[in-house]
Amino acid sequence: MKKVIVIGSGIAGLACSATCAKKGMQVLLLSPAPSERSQSVMASGGINAVLPGGEPGDNVESHIEDTLRGGRYLSGKRAVTGLCQSAGQILQDLERIGTVFSVDAAGAPKRRAFGGQSHKRTFYCGASTGKQIVTALIMEARKYESRGLIERRLWCHFYKALLREGVCYGAMIFDEKKKQLETVTADALVIATGGQNSLFGKTTGSNMCDGYAVGRLFMQGVALKNLEFIQYHPTTIETAQKKMLISEAVRGEGGRLFYETNGRRVYFMEEKYGPRGNLMTRDVISREIFLAPGPVYLDISFLGKKAIDEKLPEVKEVCAKYRGIDICREPIPVVPSVHFFMGGIAVHNNHETDMKGLFAVGECASMYHGANRLGGNSLLAAIHSGRTAANAIADEAAERVMREEDFSSELAGEQARLEMSMASKSPFPVMYIRDMLAETMQRSLGIIRDEAGISAGLEDVDYYLSVANRISYDGSVSAYHNFSLTGILTLAKAALLSAKARKESRGAHCRSDYPEEDENYACATIVSYDGGSYTVSFDKEHAYES
Ligand SMILES: Cc1cc2nc3c(=O)[nH]c(=O)nc-3n(C[C@H](O)[C@H](O)[C@H](O)COP(=O)(O)OP(=O)(O)OC[C@H]3O[C@@H](n4cnc5c(N)ncnc54)[C@H](O)[C@@H]3O)c2cc1C
Repeated sequence: MKKVIVIGSGIAGLACSATCAKKGMQVLLLSPAPSERSQSVMASGGINAVLPGGEPGDNVESHIEDTLRGGRYLSGKRAVTGLCQSAGQILQDLERIGTVFSVDAAGAPKRRAFGGQSHKRTFYCGASTGKQIVTALIMEARKYESRGLIERRLWCHFYKALLREGVCYGAMIFDEKKKQLETVTADALVIATGGQNSLFGKTTGSNMCDGYAVGRLFMQGVALKNLEFIQYHPTTIETAQKKMLISEAVRGEGGRLFYETNGRRVYFMEEKYGPRGNLMTRDVISREIFLAPGPVYLDISFLGKKAIDEKLPEVKEVCAKYRGIDICREPIPVVPSVHFFMGGIAVHNNHETDMKGLFAVGECASMYHGANRLGGNSLLAAIHSGRTAANAIADEAAERVMREEDFSSELAGEQARLEMSMASKSPFPVMYIRDMLAETMQRSLGIIRDEAGISAGLEDVDYYLSVANRISYDGSVSAYHNFSLTGILTLAKAALLSAKARKESRGAHCRSDYPEEDENYACATIVSYDGGSYTVSFDKEHAYES
């Protein structure tokens, strides 16, 4: 029986695990915290699909075209076609396993408009789409758990992959409770660790998504793709701990963005882009808000209390709770915030990396969203990619031959290094460096960047890396926060180098010194690492783009 390790138990990890188990494989699903605490549960807006009964003229072809255009034609057409073609089946399967989508009085599923889409095709479950899908997938996973096909283990962090000559044999993991490393071998390793939010400090997402696994794999020779494409969500509100998302659903329901001059409201998106201006893609709206001459507000009050209570209850609650604003009577002050990562681990269409047996799925992989993701496409991509990887693993003929004992000296070496650093009591400001890194990233990879700012960011990160390499240990934070630092900093440097290399503006990558889209850059950015040296390349013929 094939054995698969899945790291990360959000929607992508759960979807992959359930599909592997369904195909008769044995799955070990590892994460530090339960699925109920993954970032996936935060998704509220919805999931895209074309199903019968939609708006006249909508079809899978237009979903494909919207996705490709929204991503400024950097996503692989074959991959996007597969994604959109599978969407209808995915929604039906989700419903079958217990996801309850919102329906109208006649029992027909409701759809809402989302940015950058030519038709209403975003299905939702009240205000808790992500939570509902996670719950349904947990129940599906439990079914296989009871048959002994899935084992779920908590308190486990990815440490590194077990690689030999371009083949992956499993993972070294850190058990937070035992404070120990261990090796687990398998026929395939699937990384499903989500985005890179905490690289940027305060964002809309979970600070458990820190990109460490991506950075560590990069240091082990796994190529990364399109890291410069970081999605800023245009509408969030500031709170002390994070930026709370004001869902695109507000604009989907007719919400209007404006700023004020001389007491007059300027509906700048409508003035510049016409009646659908408030539903332009997120990159466009975030830039316009950033460039607005004063504070920007989002008004939905005209919808009325009854409709707001029915359609946008979570937005009403968040605004009242965190800012004391009644959205039925007053506009919401909004600012853009880092929200989603289009870039990540470079994978082929079957979600395998260049390392045989090593797969990446969900937000940590880069595949479907090109230079800018459409709202509602990420939940879809998380499920589709999880299933695609599972199918590919099932189809692979070879079973891997190496076992735990083959990695015992590697394990002993890493454990000794970890114990030595944990024994050191010198105050090493791990969290301070992470805070400084977040400031650097916000400054250098903001909504609008330029060469000077990116170079300054690189200097900062090189300095943090030089401090981190004089490794010591901060006993006031977890061992994970200590050992993950270098991987996170290395990923940050790779993102800055990718942004520096792309001398054009496209989607979420906007350079004031290269303001135009340039056909020479109509290809993916691939960054690789070899013994401390970083290489960024743009290869139009590269397999990742097919
Ligand atoms: C506020 C918000 C609202 C959103 N709304 C929508 C929406 O309406 N529609 C839509 O399509 N998309 C939405 N998104 C995006 C979407 O939710 C995510 O892209 C998607 O859920 C990612 O799923 P995932 O399984 O890849 O990652 P996650 O759900 O982030 O799961 C990652 C898993 O990896 C684990 N992990 C992380 N690091 C490690 C490590 N080092 N070792 C071991 N495990 C690790 C985590 O604990 C977790 O279990 C939203 C995002 C946010 C932040």
